[in-house]
Amino acid sequence: MKSRKLSSSPIVTGQCLCGAVQFEMEYPAFWAWHDHSRASRLAHGAVYATYVGTWRKRFRITAGEREINRFEEKDTGAVRSFCRRCGTPLIYERTRSRHMINVPRALFRSRTGRQPIYHIAIEEMQDWAYAGDPLVPLKGYPGVVCKRSKKKSRAQEARLSASIRSSCA
Ligand SMILES: [Zn+2]
Repeated sequence: MKSRKLSSSPIVTGQCLCGAVQFEMEYPAFWAWHDHSRASRLAHGAVYATYVGTWRKRFRITAGEREINRFEEKDTGAVRSFCRRCGTPLIYERTRSRHMINVPRALFRSRTGRQPIYHIAIEEMQDWAYAGDPLVPLKGYPGVVCKRSKKKSRAQEARLSASIRSSCA
């Protein structure tokens, strides 16, 4: 008969920005998703948040438990935990799934076993979110790239459509 030890799963670890809070999660996570909702946007100060969701029993705080503060959202009852030293968002607990917790993907040191292929509140996606547009170096500012100007891309489109026309003619 096959016996299964709970601790036999591989572990992935993570931390907050200042390092006071450390945690570990059994690998793999249940799922990973992008959250475009207003609440997560504000809580992260970012255009959207990317979470890894896992079962509560598969996640442990290994250091800095006392540095964690909790904020409860009045309208939804959701609880967001963060490091009170550096402000890093740590855990997002939604009322609809109490046995699951969600941890920002960015805090993990390594892969979590799930790609963030799901989106929540996509209708709230902001028009200033980077959507993979082609980028070019910004002249005079090393390390800075920017979206091609509309003028240029229109000219490129014209060239492209001209070449398509000629190749299809
Ligand atoms: Zn911290």
